[in-house]
Amino acid sequence: MQMVSHPVVIGGGPVGLVLALSLQQAGVPVTVLEGQPAGAMAGDHRALALSYGTRQVLEQLGIWPLLASAVTAIETIHVSQQKGFGRTQLKAHEHDLPALGYVVSYGALMQALDTRIAQSAANIVIQYQAPVTGLEVHASAAEIDYQTEAGAIQRLSTPLAVIADGGRSLASIPGLVRDTKHYGHDALVGLVHTEQAHRNIAYERFTPRGPMALLPNGEHFSLVWTGEQPYIDEIAALDDTAFLQALHEAFGDRAGRFLQVGKRLRFPLKLSKLEQTFSAHCVVIGNAAQTMHPVAGQGFNVGIRDAVALAKNVSATQAHEWGAAHRLAAYHHSRQRDTGRGLQFTDFLVNVFSNDLIGVGLLRGAGLGALSMLPSARRLLVNKMSYGS
Ligand SMILES: Cc1cc2nc3c(=O)[nH]c(=O)nc-3n(C[C@H](O)[C@H](O)[C@H](O)COP(=O)(O)OP(=O)(O)OC[C@H]3O[C@@H](n4cnc5c(N)ncnc54)[C@H](O)[C@@H]3O)c2cc1C
Repeated sequence: MQMVSHPVVIGGGPVGLVLALSLQQAGVPVTVLEGQPAGAMAGDHRALALSYGTRQVLEQLGIWPLLASAVTAIETIHVSQQKGFGRTQLKAHEHDLPALGYVVSYGALMQALDTRIAQSAANIVIQYQAPVTGLEVHASAAEIDYQTEAGAIQRLSTPLAVIADGGRSLASIPGLVRDTKHYGHDALVGLVHTEQAHRNIAYERFTPRGPMALLPNGEHFSLVWTGEQPYIDEIAALDDTAFLQALHEAFGDRAGRFLQVGKRLRFPLKLSKLEQTFSAHCVVIGNAAQTMHPVAGQGFNVGIRDAVALAKNVSATQAHEWGAAHRLAAYHHSRQRDTGRGLQFTDFLVNVFSNDLIGVGLLRGAGLGALSMLPSARRLLVNKMSYGS
């Protein structure tokens, strides 16, 4: 068995790598075990919405300059509902922010993170093609089994195992209970080309079938179209011309005609969270700890705030106490409010904005109308979207 005296991160996605770089910046050595080969995600076009707070984190870690040419600023967010009155606009300059958020493809973000790690390799060891196959938590350490490139199983002992696998592999984590609500909805995502340029406007549109968003991304928009699975089955099966027509009907004329759609991908939507994100010698962060509906682009940003908070906690802890339950409990409590509010907020939007009851329709119209007239409410919303709770 291999023994290390520093934290080991399971999963080298964006949250795991931001944690690794934050620990390194604080002088804490770290090992990352990533299941895929290096650079495997570079071509992933999934659009991530980064908040202004996430930009600040990436700046502090020296990642932002590497991303500058790949991000598109969101200067205005336009919110409306199909078949109903009420709409509102949030504008960055009204809140003294250079942007309300940014859109970047997952692949471009991963490339920037990989470059940054290559520039500052000291104290970070990343093992690619090293999928973790098991985790045991003992009184004095966590023991991780992973597969080596040669196919053998290697066991690694660490005072602190950080699970950042996106919730993709370790379905059950010793001692931790997961609470999951399946929406029965899917998201269909892809790049679309419109008649009018995006002018850095992001559109969020609530339809009785589910929320949809158009996010400015380079020359195009990234579309996120959500709805019940049978409905998404229907629109996913349409040929491009019929798909663009259906999109126009659901979305309206704000961006002009829809001219072209790229490869369409879909994924199921759920709300999932761990009641408790730690046990002694083990802590869970990012999507592995909480998965939310993409309606307000919150999930990724909450995960980045997990990584930053955990790095602060670990670097403020004496090395012999890394993995001590009371230190991880302090981390867990520091994150509960932000995570809980993120989950509640997105769940609320899905429930209130995706249903066809007349009373609810009037209420959300009134809500959007009120938001457009109340600068203080808009300020609160922008602040929450930028920095979390
Ligand atoms: C299609 C899609 C669109 C999305 N759009 C948005 C959006 O617009 N805005 C937004 O904020 N969020 C969005 N999300 C959510 C966003 O992708 C996640 O919040 C984000 O990727 C979470 O990062 P993460 O590092 O926690 O997990 P992941 O990105 O899932 O990374 C996990 C990493 O762990 C690795 N791994 C998994 N299992 C193992 C194992 N056993 N051993 C070793 N390594 C392992 C994986 O290879 C991967 O590299 C979207 C999600 C999907 C699926």
